[in-house]
Amino acid sequence: MLIECSECHGRISDQAASCPHCGAPPPGRSGDIKGHQILGMCGAVGGLAIFMITVSPEWRMGGGVLMILGLIGALL
Ligand SMILES: [Zn+2]
Repeated sequence: MLIECSECHGRISDQAASCPHCGAPPPGRSGDIKGHQILGMCGAVGGLAIFMITVSPEWRMGGGVLMILGLIGALL
């Protein structure tokens, strides 16, 4: 499929790593979500859920640690 380059408005393939006319990256490529970011988000949400539903201080601590680690993973 051909898409329009955001820099030079030339036609480029959506499979191309960069525009053959001006070398700009195709739109929507720069913000690719990586696997570990999804994993980190799941950890953060899971940790938050544990933190919210439990009354045990140990579990709350575990949930908080999981949430922080997940957030770090999601931001890397
Ligand atoms: Zn271009």
